[in-house]
Amino acid sequence: MRTPFALTGISVVTGDALGTIHQDWTITVEDTGTIGYAGPAGGADLPTTALRIDGRGLFALPGLINAHAHLFADGTPLGSAATNPRLAKYATWLMRTPLGRRILFRRTRDHAAIQLHSGVTTLRTVGDVAYEVVAIREEIERGETVGPRILPSGPLMAITGGHGAPQIALIGDDPLTARANARQNIRRGAKAIKISATGGVSDAIEIGYAGRPEMPEDSMRAVCEEAHEAGVLVAAHAQSSEGTIAALRAGVDTIEHGSSMSAEIIELFLDNPASLRGFSALIPTLQACLPLVSLDPSVTGVDPVVRANAELVLEEMLAGVRAALENGITLGVGTDSSVSYVTHSNYWRELDLLQHVGGMEPAAVLHAATQGNAKILGLDTVTGSIAAGKVADLVVVDADPLESFRNLAAPRMVVARGERIVRPQITRIDEIDRLLDTL
Ligand SMILES: [Zn+2]
Repeated sequence: MRTPFALTGISVVTGDALGTIHQDWTITVEDTGTIGYAGPAGGADLPTTALRIDGRGLFALPGLINAHAHLFADGTPLGSAATNPRLAKYATWLMRTPLGRRILFRRTRDHAAIQLHSGVTTLRTVGDVAYEVVAIREEIERGETVGPRILPSGPLMAITGGHGAPQIALIGDDPLTARANARQNIRRGAKAIKISATGGVSDAIEIGYAGRPEMPEDSMRAVCEEAHEAGVLVAAHAQSSEGTIAALRAGVDTIEHGSSMSAEIIELFLDNPASLRGFSALIPTLQACLPLVSLDPSVTGVDPVVRANAELVLEEMLAGVRAALENGITLGVGTDSSVSYVTHSNYWRELDLLQHVGGMEPAAVLHAATQGNAKILGLDTVTGSIAAGKVADLVVVDADPLESFRNLAAPRMVVARGERIVRPQITRIDEIDRLLDTL
């Protein structure tokens, strides 16, 4: 059983689109892990048994949600492991040996813990090696490990030679096989489905490869139908407007990374009859491209083809963000953790980039990261805001995150489903952080 507690005198950053902050609030958390009261001081009788935590001078915000994560790697540049077919084959074989699986499981669990200690109380994976994240989710749900709430995808859905294949993908070249793959993932415990609708940056073999359409629309439609029947949302990696439109027509619920938008694309985002809930959302992941483009290639040693693709994709992605903002398209936040230069401790950097490169207002960014993501993932009755009856997912920091998202880099406390992590321990990769600080 969790210890009930009360945070008193705290400033509450609500995560609404206006950037509302309430001063001198009290938040009580019950032993069930839910919020009993969140409001002005004096509005609730604190149970005498509850632990009182003095929150004066501190800021509480809703637990952060990472709608696009991978947990298999730590953000160290992937290098040729993704593009060299022999190395890729070796890595794939290694991950499937008993020893490889044990190592992968332990690393994955560590990465989930880093995300949590960095303030991410909910995450969705969108491409796992196998079902290792499903197993970790089950461990967390059984209460054996403290971790974030996880919606695991299992391996993603790709075509032969497609993005993510074969390392983190099940291959399906026709609608029947694609549907069977989706069914298998759901049977094995996946709570999210991911499709590669186009080629990607990390495994591009020539310039212009990244946005090339991959899974055909009829196969994507079969995957969406299968997932939606189970109430599971479908994400599609799409880095060109051709890929985006096919994915949206097929009924995909979230477009990952994104592209420039035609009138038809905008209309389909806002009103998508084939999606699970009538609309689709955009999850840009600026961190996945910006370091590859902006860091000095003589320092990073990034492959020139990968860099050129990242440049094209970044341009498309930023055009997508602009179109989403102009047209009221629901926008979420994901980091693409595990890919080159995206560590598990750097969720705050995505927010920083959305503000300074994406041109979003800080309040809109934090809203997307909390209430917005909760709505996109269908979790808005559970998490994403601080209110009585919601699950207690909170981040407590020393300074106002809306002043600078860097204030989220080292939380004072994280609360996940009512469980307090008092002094979060974050394993960072200093070399990567030093490079990213120069951007
Ligand atoms: Zn990804």
